[in-house]
Amino acid sequence: MKTLNDINFKNKKALIRVDFNVPLNENFQVTDNTRILAAKPTIEKILNDGGSVILMSHLGRPKGKDAKFSLKHIVPELEKVLGRKVEFVPDSIGHQVQEAVKNLKPGGILLLENLRFYPEEKKGDANFAKALADLGADYYINDAFGTAHRAHASTAVIAQYFDRDHKAFGQLLEKEVTSIQKALDEGQKPVTAIIGGAKVSSKIGVIENLLNKVDNLIIVGGMAYTFLKALGNKIGDSIVEDDKIDLAKKILKEAAEKGVKVILPVDLVIADKFSNDAQTKIVSATDIPDGWQGLDIGPKTRQLIDTVIQNSKTIIWNGPAGVFEFDKFATGTENIGLSIGKASEKGAYSLVGGGDSVAAVKKLGLTDKISYISTGGGALLEMLEGKQLPGIAALTH
Ligand code: AMP
Repeated sequence: MKTLNDINFKNKKALIRVDFNVPLNENFQVTDNTRILAAKPTIEKILNDGGSVILMSHLGRPKGKDAKFSLKHIVPELEKVLGRKVEFVPDSIGHQVQEAVKNLKPGGILLLENLRFYPEEKKGDANFAKALADLGADYYINDAFGTAHRAHASTAVIAQYFDRDHKAFGQLLEKEVTSIQKALDEGQKPVTAIIGGAKVSSKIGVIENLLNKVDNLIIVGGMAYTFLKALGNKIGDSIVEDDKIDLAKKILKEAAEKGVKVILPVDLVIADKFSNDAQTKIVSATDIPDGWQGLDIGPKTRQLIDTVIQNSKTIIWNGPAGVFEFDKFATGTENIGLSIGKASEKGAYSLVGGGDSVAAVKKLGLTDKISYISTGGGALLEMLEGKQLPGIAALTH
């Protein structure tokens, strides 16, 4: 794969697909600049070479042109993060943009308007992709890992209009791909994956692929109850997908055949309602009474998981262990974060991804301890499923 360091951008113009889909408050100020910070190394490398950059991104889910979703709102934050002046152009294709690109000087930064103001972007329309490719840039760089699983015009289709020597992975995209591969395909054994979240159905592909990669598979969160029920346990009113019980049985059988140890909760924090002020009890995972639901893993399970994690050399975590949005049921998720932090300090390689797990790790101040924190949601899940991502494939063809 061609990376940024293979290219000298002196006097060259690079069109970079970034992921500036950042949250804004009611005054249109950026409330979390993580994604802007994540794009900074790529932008700086090109500017420091003596090149200029044209930045393109989507923001939110506008239905056509809508000032609320204009990328002009992020200019102040972008200028602050980069410490440089940013020029904004209120369109993403056409004559006005081409003129702005033509006038761009080395060191210059041009930000285009929200790509999704054109419905063609999400449709992966070839003419729209060609119009972006015709803006006048010498290189196309993709640094938007968060949308690399989408075959959109700016994330994948555009790449066909640049030859192999004129397109490359941005530094963030490269780091994501190599970090995920390091954990998934080159991980030192024992490899442990902790998969949580609400439903089995959203992570079937991930679990099935992980069965070929890991030594230990820890299943927590809402999805654990489908597995517990499949094993004949009473799960009371806990969240369950009855149509996935057979699948859960099949996964457990496959795991046994492949020698993968599956770790399910042995005890649980149960609640009499789905609320932070519910009554709670700790019970064995075999016997949740009717009228009660499991909302977090219990202390024995936390201990069991910690032991497995401390004995692992590679750790992958995606998805919370309970309804962590309620403080009362956040302990399991936080303990997993702490365990991974501790194991990482002792030399394990850890990869954490997914909004909830990343939020837990940040809240606990563990970001520096974790080996790699992925910026991707859906894109990370598809990588964990072993799929080829269109945005990545397009750069290598
Ligand atoms: P996901 O997006 O699939 O990773 O799921 C995350 C959501 O799962 C979070 O909003 C959690 O509150 C929810 N969740 C985790 N454990 C449970 C549980 N035991 N019962 C209901 N929801 C849960």
